[in-house]
Amino acid sequence: MAKHDYDFSNLNPTATVLRKLDPIVIEKPRAPIHIHTYGGESPFFRGLTEGKLLATRCVNKKCKPAGKEGHVFLPPRVYCPDCLERTEWIDVTERARKTARIHTHITVAHPGAFNRVPIPCELISVEIEGVSTIIMSQLRGAKPEIGMPIEPVFETAHPTFTILDLAWVPRKA
Ligand SMILES: [Zn+2]
Repeated sequence: MAKHDYDFSNLNPTATVLRKLDPIVIEKPRAPIHIHTYGGESPFFRGLTEGKLLATRCVNKKCKPAGKEGHVFLPPRVYCPDCLERTEWIDVTERARKTARIHTHITVAHPGAFNRVPIPCELISVEIEGVSTIIMSQLRGAKPEIGMPIEPVFETAHPTFTILDLAWVPRKA
């Protein structure tokens, strides 16, 4: 199977079963297919599959809350919450590798969207220099501590196209 060649089909037309002959009753297994667009957030999730951490930045010079440099949002916001203008994408992968730290953390047994990861799960909030927001993610292979330097790792070999394609590990010196 090619890297991005996925079979999302969950319908098996050959699985029809005859239940009764008089009257004829057949059983056809069906499962709902949920079609969901990531819309303007697509670059973020596509970036994770390519080993890139993409944020957005407000470039509206009149956006007062954002100030001179502009607010940088991670998780990305397609529209600036302060001025409602469309944001622009910026690559913060290197910035994250050099400056990311654990802002806070919690160990959870039922990690919600992360419920496909081994439990207990170490949920962390990540602060990155120059990024105005913190992103929640998961720490692998270490006990979290506030202020711990960390770096991102990406699931590029078998991407899920979910937030599970991003995790963090302690930063190598
Ligand atoms: Zn703005």
